Parts: sequence; structure tokens; C-alpha cells
Amino acid sequence: MDIYKLEAWYLKNQRKLPFRESKNSYHIWVSEVMLQQTQVDTVLPYFSKFIEKYPTVLDLANANEEELHKTVEGLGYYRRFRMMHQAAITIMRDFKGVFPDQYEHVRSLPGVGAYTAGAIMSIAYNQPFSATDGNVIRVLARYLGDDQDMRLEKNKKRMDIYQQQMIEKATPWIYTQAIMELGALICRPRQPKCDLCPLQEHCQSYQQDIQDQIPLITRPLKTKVYHYITLVIEDQEAIYLRKRHEELLKGMYEYPQYESESLNFVLNELEQQGIVLDIYEEKTAFKHVFSHQTWLMDVYHARRIKGSHPEWIRISKHDIFNYPMAIAHRKIKLTSIIW
Ligand code: SF4
Repeated sequence: MDIYKLEAWYLKNQRKLPFRESKNSYHIWVSEVMLQQTQVDTVLPYFSKFIEKYPTVLDLANANEEELHKTVEGLGYYRRFRMMHQAAITIMRDFKGVFPDQYEHVRSLPGVGAYTAGAIMSIAYNQPFSATDGNVIRVLARYLGDDQDMRLEKNKKRMDIYQQQMIEKATPWIYTQAIMELGALICRPRQPKCDLCPLQEHCQSYQQDIQDQIPLITRPLKTKVYHYITLVIEDQEAIYLRKRHEELLKGMYEYPQYESESLNFVLNELEQQGIVLDIYEEKTAFKHVFSHQTWLMDVYHARRIKGSHPEWIRISKHDIFNYPMAIAHRKIKLTSIIW
């Protein structure tokens, strides 16, 4: 690969991003965690807010989990931030509060996989450890003209081995960011800008004009679809929420919801627990797609007549923005307060 052309291209064309302004390993860790599954433009305001609120590992270790959720509300995949909190506590306990600079130590932190460890080691410490994510795989598979199915681990592994060979010949902090930036700006999923690409000369896909066929990624298994009856239950100036303990969105708040397609079934179940609701508005249908499941929510607005569930938490309607809520439910509007 034309490593030097790639690095020179990066140094000239890189975007100005706040987490690239220093080699602070904590900042790089935060940015890499946020950038997993999330676009750079979406991450930028969250990154600044996060670093302002938790400027050091110590601040993150001492974070109140609910406030932490609130800070990242809207980014999705909240488990990554719970793991980050655990990792910060681990750094305080096992590494005297100093972000580790050995690969094995970084990799041992909760939630830190091979990609994140490689990114931190190469960008913050200039060490030759590969960081191979989907964007890098796309660039490498196209460059090499590799038409194998990149959903399969063995093929991803092959790309990672190649990436490791390249970074060992390169300047690690530049190379890692350069190939990521090339994937984001030039070798994009659709319509790559090959005319502007520093790798064009030896790119197999370009030479064979097969860029749009590579990488081959077979379709994932179908996502599971859940039907919910979702209840926005008002009680004068109050509203009811529930804190999730399920693995998906654990620790986030939601309106009470029940897996069913029948409102009557849910109301009957609640009545048997002594809870009576008055549904005062026709349903509104909402859909939210996660990576492995889809929620189809029939949302009903109700008034509480009597009873309550032990999992329901009664809060003032006006405090609702103080509670970390998943976007799946945040997009449901209350009718009687101004949004
Ligand atoms: S020449 Fe085109 S397909 Fe090949 S690496 Fe560059 S942008 Fe991607």
C-alpha cells in the first residue's frame, strides 16, 4: 500500500475535530467510544459536553450514573457508557487514576475491545496496534480487490492482519487516523471519490471498476419485531415513568409499556392488579428500529383513576427532561405540556 501517500493526504486534508487536537488518551477513548455506531457530526456536540462535564478519568469514575445517561441521551447504545463508567472506576482502582499505556492493560478495561484498544494505542501513544472497524475493512477490501464476504469473522480477521502489517511500516498515529478519514471522506460506502484518492494507483477495485461490488456483506439475520402497548399515564401535573432493568437501554427511563397488540388485554391485566386507567386519546403509532430489534408501539394517553404499579415512578411532567430517556420514547409527545 502507498502508506506515505496516504499519510501525506491525511496531514493535508484531515477535518478539524476537537478530539484530534491533542494526544490525550482519555479524550481519544471518549471519542472512539462515542464514534462506535454513531456519525461524527452527531458526536461532536456530545463530545464537547461530555469533556466539559467529565474532564478527567476521576470525574467520570465519580459520575452519577443517571446524570451520565442524561449527558449521552440521544446517542443510543447506552451500554457502552455504562461500561465506560466501570472502566473509569477500574483505572482509578488498578492504575492509580492514570490512563494505561500498555495494550494488555487498555484491552483489559471493561468495554474496550480490540478496535478501541488499537485506536487508543496508535493515536495516543504512537504504537503499532491495528484498529480495524467496518470503515477500514471497506477501504482495505476495495484496495486489495477482496470480494469475500466481510460479514464472516475469518475474512475480517484477514483484513486485520493486513492492517497490522501496514501499521508496522507506518507512523501509527497518522496511519490509523488517515485510513479512517479516507473511509469517511473518500472511500465512502457509496460513490467513492476515486479521483481524489491517494491509493488509486494500486487499488484493485478501481482498476477493475468493481468499487460498488466491494465489500461484499451478506444480509444480517432478520431483526426481531416487538409490538408494544405504550401508556403515557397522566395524573394531574404528574406522569409515570419506569426505569429499565433490561439489558437493552438499561438504566434509561421509559413510559410503561407492555408486549402486546391488544389494549384491552393490557388494561384487563392492569385491572387485575388494582390499576384503573381512563384512555382519553386514540392511539398514535410509533416505530423505532434498533440494530437487532424493532419496536412497534401503539401509544395511548391515559389518566390514572386508581392504583399504581411498584415499578412506576411518579414525577412532575415538567421534570421529564431531567430523566434520561431513550429516543424511542423521547419522541412520544405529551399532549398537555408544551414541547
Ligand atoms: S481508489 Fe476508490 S475504491 Fe480504491 S481505495 Fe480509493 S476511493 Fe476506495
